[in-house]
Amino acid sequence: MEMKEFGLHDIVEMKKGHPCGANAWKIIRMGADIRIKCEGCQHSVMLPRAEFNKKMKKVLVKAEAE
Ligand SMILES: [Zn+2]
Repeated sequence: MEMKEFGLHDIVEMKKGHPCGANAWKIIRMGADIRIKCEGCQHSVMLPRAEFNKKMKKVLVKAEAE
């Protein structure tokens, strides 16, 4: 299985978009669980890391390195 690179504050696309019509999510918390927030409606969801890895399609916008 391919390991995907992603980090805090990256904007990612999931395999399934949100019902609101958007498919861009910002990673707002990284840990054993990953919390992402929909860029369309600001709804946030928490996913176990393994599930996030499976459902994430690609990174759309890489967060600026600080
Ligand atoms: Zn949404």
